[in-house]
Amino acid sequence: MPRRISINHDLCRGCNLCLEMCPKQVFQESSEIGAAGFRLKQVALPDECTACGLCELYCAGAISLEPLPPEEFADIMAQEERRTSTGQRRGGWKEVDSLLEPGRYFMAGNEAVVEAALAAGCEFFAGYPITPANEILEGMSRRMGETGGRFIQAEDEIASVYMILGASWAGLKAFTATSGPGFALMQEGLSLADMAEIPCVIVNVQRAGPSTGQATRPAAMDMREARYGSHGGVQRIVLYPDSVQEVFDMTIEAFNLAERFRTPVILLSDGYLSHLAEKVAVSGCVKVFDRIYVPGRPAFGPTSDSSVPSMPRFGDGENVVATGSTHDVSGKRSTTNPTVQENLVFYLNRKILEHREELVDCEELFLDDAETAVVAFGTVGRSAKWAVKEARKLGRRVGLLRPRIVYPFPSQRIKELCRTVNQFVVPEMSQGQMVHVVSEKVARDVVSLPQPNGQIIDPRRILKYLVEGVW
Ligand code: SF4
Ligand code: SF4
Repeated sequence: MPRRISINHDLCRGCNLCLEMCPKQVFQESSEIGAAGFRLKQVALPDECTACGLCELYCAGAISLEPLPPEEFADIMAQEERRTSTGQRRGGWKEVDSLLEPGRYFMAGNEAVVEAALAAGCEFFAGYPITPANEILEGMSRRMGETGGRFIQAEDEIASVYMILGASWAGLKAFTATSGPGFALMQEGLSLADMAEIPCVIVNVQRAGPSTGQATRPAAMDMREARYGSHGGVQRIVLYPDSVQEVFDMTIEAFNLAERFRTPVILLSDGYLSHLAEKVAVSGCVKVFDRIYVPGRPAFGPTSDSSVPSMPRFGDGENVVATGSTHDVSGKRSTTNPTVQENLVFYLNRKILEHREELVDCEELFLDDAETAVVAFGTVGRSAKWAVKEARKLGRRVGLLRPRIVYPFPSQRIKELCRTVNQFVVPEMSQGQMVHVVSEKVARDVVSLPQPNGQIIDPRRILKYLVEGVW
């Protein structure tokens, strides 16, 4: 979004960084000498500004970028729309009929992934067999045959992830499913998806590691890898449901988020949730989002307002290069220009972080007056919920926070809880990974309850800690 730029000359220190940093040379020195004895800076070419934010970032406080008033912004967007709408625009929200008859079904977590992916409009799956994700691969091979989609059993997980990236550029909604060792192999491909802004979904059914570990046993040992596994330091959207109903609903959500933000989205499950069978309510109609395409628009960021760029598909006739190298808005490589590199990395972060508030999705229980908050993720949330309810019956002021969307991490919500909470407790099916994330956000006592033994955490164990302080 274009911005209104202003310089407060009382705060300007005359460092000249704005002149050097602005890639569009929006600033110039005026002939006027300020009170502090140096030449004043002026906003000479405001229409050139792409709102990259560099000047505000580097300036000592004199420069501010304000959003334009809504009417002015709407005018600019309408002009842009008229300029680019030469062909057939497509994408956005729509409602489609569910492939399943509306009603209640009894299905396992892995089956729910398959049915929900189809409901979300998935037309391509590539994968390699791995326990405990196998039923997803098997289910997709069967259901793709019935629905007319494409299924490939690839030679390994590296091939799988690149196949879904290619399918996505061909205009298909695509996903793969794997577990710990396969997820590790996919990280470089995910990084390409970040850089080339390729929507896709990766389901990681976590098992006890490291390495081949205990292939059939549940764990939550890839929590940090899901966020930080790839190089390049950009944002990742990571979901972790706690029931088969949530697996179904959040698989659809994962596809919608991938399409909206043109980014890989990770749906975490685990060896327990994947094989747990529960009732799932399926409605007759599903709300899905298809990536936006506007003919003639640039296919990559940075966009002026950190919005998600238009995504053409092969055959649309756009002159686009899809590359993992640093590139400009048409995909043209720019592998030595520091400004292009920096702007691109900031933009890839911003296009998700600017929507951080709408990406907060937490289950909360008894937090109004809680002195101790249990922060739990995915399957562990089930054990934690029972323990918190029982501890309440015993008069303990405890509550539960369970982020369904794990990343972007709901930092603001955790900080707000510090008004009453003086201790956070983080039980995990790992040696303790998310406890560090919680610790970073709060100046409170944060207790790790680790259990990296390939078993789900017995709720009575959490209760014992809440009541007796024993783990
Ligand atoms: S970067 Fe800020 S402080 Fe430095 S010259 Fe420009 S306006 Fe002044
Ligand atoms: S936001 Fe970027 S393009 Fe705009 S004036 Fe600042 S540095 Fe220049």
